[in-house]
Amino acid sequence: MGDAALGAAHETFQEFRNHPPRERGDILRRAYDLITERADDLALLMTIEMGKPVAESKAEITYASNFFRWYAEEAVRIDGRYTVNETGVGRVLTMKQPVGPCVFITPWNFPLAMGTRKIGPAIAAGCTMVVKPASQTPLSMYALAQILVECGVPDGVLNVVTTSSTADVMEPLIRDPRLRKLTFTGSTPVGRALVEQSAQGLLRVSMELGGNAPFLVFDDADLDRAVDGAMLAKMRNIGEACTAANRFIVHESVADEFSRRLAERMGGLKLGRGTDDGVNVGPLIDGRQRDKVAELVADAVDHGGRVLTGGNRGDGDGYFFEPTVLADVPTSARMFREEIFGPVAPVTTFSTDDQALALANDTEYGLVAYAFTRDLARAVRVAEGLETGMVGINQGVVSNPAAPFGGVKASGFGREGGAEGIEEYLETKYVGLAL
Ligand code: NAD
Repeated sequence: MGDAALGAAHETFQEFRNHPPRERGDILRRAYDLITERADDLALLMTIEMGKPVAESKAEITYASNFFRWYAEEAVRIDGRYTVNETGVGRVLTMKQPVGPCVFITPWNFPLAMGTRKIGPAIAAGCTMVVKPASQTPLSMYALAQILVECGVPDGVLNVVTTSSTADVMEPLIRDPRLRKLTFTGSTPVGRALVEQSAQGLLRVSMELGGNAPFLVFDDADLDRAVDGAMLAKMRNIGEACTAANRFIVHESVADEFSRRLAERMGGLKLGRGTDDGVNVGPLIDGRQRDKVAELVADAVDHGGRVLTGGNRGDGDGYFFEPTVLADVPTSARMFREEIFGPVAPVTTFSTDDQALALANDTEYGLVAYAFTRDLARAVRVAEGLETGMVGINQGVVSNPAAPFGGVKASGFGREGGAEGIEEYLETKYVGLAL
């Protein structure tokens, strides 16, 4: 199955790379419109598949479709340059060409958006692809593929492979000489293994991996804004997001007030089935993930953390975990090093800016960081000092189709979104002209 999918992507590449850019853009633009039209059905499907409340699924669908609209507009703006070389007699011509057949591997937490962030720029650039969604959420990807087919994507350009024997099916594809690019969104250990496999073919590689986002609140922060930002940064997607605030690092003079207000807001959220009205927090993806969250909370409490709200598995038939705020969590607790991937906010304190930055950077990850301060000079110093690919200043969400999303350190490399996002699917060719 995998072999046939890559074969189709390989065979159609020569044709699709020459498909008129405007038509490639129009496929994406029509798909944007159709996703928008079917948003209610897609949202229900997504909620049934992975548990998040329908309102959150709708928000993801808007976010996901925006990548198609953005890259519909980029397809017709791929250009090169023309310069006179240093001697004055030769000319340098550069052109951008599509990389070739790609393999995309995506996670379950944003089943649609993690696909459109790759498929959008790939179609815009003229690449063909094999897409492997997470085994927990294949249906959203099938629904997306169906939409693209209806919008005119030629046969063989987009090939979806679903399997529960992922490594057995994907490794031969990644090692296949017909493949030119691998892009993966998922956990860091799997990303490391895939980078090793891709070395064989010297593939172009993009890795969107795990995170351990610090959320810094300085003594001059607007606390209302910081708490609003914290709710978004922590609770978007039930905390199951690579961008989720994982460590709240708060100035000692405002920590009690911030924690109290955050606990009040978190404690007021309604836990339940994602399809029920008024529910803010759905179940976690599976029992293993819920056990991990429970273990991390128990470990933090063992290390001296104080539960301000939540702390337990939720009632009912589902992998529920209560929205939780923990104060006085020492940095030796496991949750300061590991991705929680659940609705749990641990708070620790700092006294100086240098200490805040040192704590924030004390992790192997480097995806995103959030900082709340009203002092512009401090905001710039902190943004420059954070070892992350993205920084949110006075905002709890950084995802945006116009912006380059991606990490450094163990959070990976490569960017999705913005002008940078399409570069991942383009090669630069230089032609020297002797006159
Ligand atoms: P995961 O690494 O377990 O799985 C991701 C994908 O890889 C799935 O499709 C899975 O089937 C596949 N996979 C697993 N083992 C594989 C193997 N040996 N060979 C090939 N493919 C394999 O991650 P997950 O649990 O689905 O997703 C959660 C992780 O994704 C978290 O670490 C989260 O931070 C990360 N994530 C990162 C971003 C980002 O943009 N940086 C976005 C969303 C999620």
